[in-house]
Amino acid sequence: PNNTRTRLIAGNWKMNKNYTEGVQLAQDLANELGHDTHGVEVVVCPPATDLKGVSGVIEFDRAPFGLGAQNVYWEASGAFTGELSCDMLKSVGCTHCIVGHSERRDYFGETDGDINLKVKALLAAGIVPISCCGESLEVREAGNQVDFVVGQIRADFDGVELESGDQLVVAYEPIWAIGTGKTATPEDAQEVCGAIRAALVDIFGADIASQIRVLYGGSAKPGNVAGFLAEEDVDGALVGGASLVAADFAAMVERA
Ligand code: PGA
Repeated sequence: PNNTRTRLIAGNWKMNKNYTEGVQLAQDLANELGHDTHGVEVVVCPPATDLKGVSGVIEFDRAPFGLGAQNVYWEASGAFTGELSCDMLKSVGCTHCIVGHSERRDYFGETDGDINLKVKALLAAGIVPISCCGESLEVREAGNQVDFVVGQIRADFDGVELESGDQLVVAYEPIWAIGTGKTATPEDAQEVCGAIRAALVDIFGADIASQIRVLYGGSAKPGNVAGFLAEEDVDGALVGGASLVAADFAAMVERA
């Protein structure tokens, strides 16, 4: 590693695996990983209906991974049909929560303002947000990826206060690389992740920014993860498709 940040490999299961399948995948992953991930931090983010079951696997099999949700609502409780609060996520063992995934922005109309409120609510609850950003193909083809992503970061973290960089994770996921098999090059990832870190320095100060993990996501797999991690400002991966196969996800942890 070219810095002292702990590598983080996070799995985003998206809308895959019912309860039974999810518990099985968590058990398979625990078996593949053993009890030692050699200093790499691992988090899995199953669908909400699997959270309690996967947290049972973590507890009873002493599985070496943390638990994340894929979404949250910022209000504490009340008449918000279909939503889940930070306290509900905590009560089933969540330590992390993905926010602002491009699928939520594009299909469910999430705005930077929503993401800002979610990040603040999670921090107040002591849950680590894995806050996603990333440009469309159109933005990339126009060469505006850095400005676009930095704009998202500034809006998403407006007024956010941190005591330590461990409280927040950022995931850079170029939309054109998600689930397409088309990955960014390590240099593409570094260009934007480096700009993200510079923006984090502006927002949170140099000390805290140097502790925040910035992940790459978008068709990350065993064969390409090491290349991304060799870059100065890439501290791990947010993994979709490859996190659904225990052996592949474990291989990525091994190569991190
Ligand atoms: P992918 O998804 O690895 O399947 O491209 C990544 C993500 O959307 O988090």
